[in-house]
Amino acid sequence: MISEHSGGSEDSDDQARRRSELDAALRHTGDRIDRAARAAGRDPSAITLIVVTKFFPAADVELLRELGVRDIGESRDQEARDKLATVGERVRSAGGVRPVVHFVGQLQSNKARSVARYADVVHSVDRTRLVGSLDRAVANALEAGERERRLRVLIQIDLSTAGSDADQQAPRGGLRPGDRADRVDRLAERIQSAEHLDLAGVMAVAPRDAGVEATRSAFERLAGISAHLTSEHPDANWISAGMSGDLELAVASGATHLRVGSAILGSRPPAR
Ligand SMILES: *Cc1c(COP(=O)(O)O)cnc(C)c1O
Repeated sequence: MISEHSGGSEDSDDQARRRSELDAALRHTGDRIDRAARAAGRDPSAITLIVVTKFFPAADVELLRELGVRDIGESRDQEARDKLATVGERVRSAGGVRPVVHFVGQLQSNKARSVARYADVVHSVDRTRLVGSLDRAVANALEAGERERRLRVLIQIDLSTAGSDADQQAPRGGLRPGDRADRVDRLAERIQSAEHLDLAGVMAVAPRDAGVEATRSAFERLAGISAHLTSEHPDANWISAGMSGDLELAVASGATHLRVGSAILGSRPPAR
């Protein structure tokens, strides 16, 4: 973390140290993605790395931007809103490219208005009520000049298996399709008929405490759902899966977007 003291050179030392730490971690993660893609016979450049910056300050987002990161992920509205306001000011005053902002956390309908002001993509749409809230929120934000484009959304799929204690205690959201593909179809139709939303694909988090084989089979299930979805909606071909601990398995199963936090920024306080 960057020091709060304004001791001039000490600050810039800290900043330089943090910058090289992030640089090394980005390279290391890039190597992991390259290796996993090559092993799967895939083109690494077809895989987008989203750096999840939740719990880390705007100063880190600035450094990541300087290091060429174009996509960042956030999961908590209030934190994201404040952080991105700071990043936005920096972009306006110092120039450079505003990052593409992915909202990846669980989203309550009453936060839709806020999220529509700063997010380019929402990964966690899992119910029709949220579709309506987001569509209206984007309409308002467009009208108010707070955003320029429509919102891309992904359908979040719950891959936890019934009976897993860890997942039951702290559900992470997501539509539970079970063996009913029509649940996904119906939500997809609803999104496609929303005036200001574009359906981009599917997203999932691997079940908690799952071993390699269970994680692999969960990601394969997600790939199957994606194949079904794209047969009706060919442009909705994103598969957002894979985090610090399981990105290789996600790449092997066809993930197009990886959401990586701790492997790049370091560990966070224990979750929730
Ligand atoms: C925090 C978070 C991530 C990143 O997790 P790491 O294990 O730190 O890479 C990815 N996806 C979602 C939905 C998250 O909330």
